[in-house]
Amino acid sequence: LSADTRFVLDASALIEDLRCQQVRGVNARPVLVGPLTFLSLARTTDGSNPLDHLPALFEVYERLIKSFDTEWVQIDEPALVTDVAPEVLEQVRAGYTTLAKRGGVFVNTYFGSGDQALNTLAGIGLGAIGVDLVTHGVTELAAWKGEELLVAGIVDGRNIWRTDLCAALASLKRLAARGPIAVSTSCSLLHVPYTLEAENIEPEVRDWLAFGSEKITEVKLLADALAGNIDAAAFDAASAAIASRRTSPRTAPITQELPGRSRGSFDTRVTLQEKSLELPALPTTTIGSFPQTPSIRSARARLRKESITLEQYEEAMREEIDLVIAKQEELGLDVLVHGEPERNDMVQYFSELLDGFLSTANGWVQSYGSRCVRPPVLFGNVSRPAPMTVKWFQYAQSLTQKHVKGMLTGPVTILAWSFVRDDQPLATTADQVALALRDEINDLIEAGAKIIQVDEPAIRELLPLRDVDKPAYLQWSVDSFRLATAGAPDDVQIHTHMCYSEFNEVISSVIALDADVTTIEAARSDMQVLAALKSSGFELGVGPGVWDIHSPRVPSAQEVDGLLEAALQSVDPRQLWVNPDCGLKTRGWPEVEASLKVLVESAKQAREKIGATI
Ligand code: GLN
Ligand code: ZN
Repeated sequence: LSADTRFVLDASALIEDLRCQQVRGVNARPVLVGPLTFLSLARTTDGSNPLDHLPALFEVYERLIKSFDTEWVQIDEPALVTDVAPEVLEQVRAGYTTLAKRGGVFVNTYFGSGDQALNTLAGIGLGAIGVDLVTHGVTELAAWKGEELLVAGIVDGRNIWRTDLCAALASLKRLAARGPIAVSTSCSLLHVPYTLEAENIEPEVRDWLAFGSEKITEVKLLADALAGNIDAAAFDAASAAIASRRTSPRTAPITQELPGRSRGSFDTRVTLQEKSLELPALPTTTIGSFPQTPSIRSARARLRKESITLEQYEEAMREEIDLVIAKQEELGLDVLVHGEPERNDMVQYFSELLDGFLSTANGWVQSYGSRCVRPPVLFGNVSRPAPMTVKWFQYAQSLTQKHVKGMLTGPVTILAWSFVRDDQPLATTADQVALALRDEINDLIEAGAKIIQVDEPAIRELLPLRDVDKPAYLQWSVDSFRLATAGAPDDVQIHTHMCYSEFNEVISSVIALDADVTTIEAARSDMQVLAALKSSGFELGVGPGVWDIHSPRVPSAQEVDGLLEAALQSVDPRQLWVNPDCGLKTRGWPEVEASLKVLVESAKQAREKIGATI
């Protein structure tokens, strides 16, 4: 958007959709993204404040909702659970006061406590207000005086645990004594798999779970119970499952003395690592994966269908590693990777090798656009029955004189891309994962690894929505990374990698991870993150991505030279690494080869240029 954006209403497609449902006899309810949420997620090209458009957008919405002939219109305003300035809340209240006149307006909120939404919107004539009673538990909701229907999101729409029906019913009864309520999920069911029916999960754990269709059943059971029709057998079964989960040895709290989270001083580490690694200035490397070719995928599919043996599969993966190492040698990269052919996904791979996780067969959820993932379920205490990556590292390292990086996914990212326990603090779960990774790092070092990368692409993604909750998160996420990595001796170089977001807001955490080298997505934002690092006095190694691998094209030499030059404006040459901005698994070999050639050549030239200054 920009200051002179004007909104013009064209509801024809929506109205057509609605009519299609109505002729089928469906009592459809249109659902719209609310004006505040829409503008809060918008960016402007001219530095103006997107929220300046709020009053104008409310006017368009007023006409829009009048064009629906339905009983209810739902407007989603999850932005109301974030930090919103008081004067903006005033405008939101004024806007909805006008919209409410249509009748049947339901404003829904989720992903945080509904208190701010109720403070802003209660008592202005809305038909219903929806609140999330899961994310921060059942809060007081003092502003709700029973004037509108409260849509009580008591069944967790975001996670896959079975609802404690008795406890939920007790909460609902307390609310129902204050005014009219409807039972609902805490948010849409977009984030959970469709049904447990399609799964073959061991009975003990299966009993603890509820996916989409099971959650709808829970909503119905609660609504019926509230109306006086309690299904005693269903409530008993839920209570038994909750008790079984609470008392299972697999979820029993573990108390143990944790090892330290600090390494030697950075200066000591630099000196020791320079000696042990003997790398050139501006070392070149990649982020880990190389193309996941159709032949790799087909080997995996054949293993699953048991049309090849595990030995045959592993042989195919070793052949892939042969190729990846040979190509990197040929290209002249300095620090090599094994290419991650054996990993279906950077989280799923580890979840399948760790105890405490289960995988689903059909638990697909949308991740973004048309991409879907099958997040693992982290249901119990995590431990590592055996080394997970060591044999692949060893094989790759046996093929070359250059250093091969050990390659792991970090604790925060493993949590972010799994369904996680809600029966203990995330920090505790993160530390369990971190301890398993610490043991893996130990084994990699014993097997000869001198450089180990622990990827944390999701560290920004888990950042809480409200400022008050951020410091605690940043503390435990950094702590868990440090617990995972601090066992490495000072002459071993720890790398981390981050992508998928702007990091300016979490820059102090990036620094606090204390990784010797951080490779970070930067090509698309013109190296902006480096300026932020510079102003915070960052002295660790950094590899801003100089090839944006998310766009399917080979960068030109000028482009990469330009980005390197820009990087050298903010970073001391002794700190700088040269690398793409993410893994290469989604790319094809021809563009990978061509692009890495450009990257290596660019690094060579930059090295010559700065030669004198190092
Ligand atoms: N090491 C991983 C890879 O290269 C990192 C992927 C990521 O950042 N999402 O594929
Ligand atoms: Zn990445």
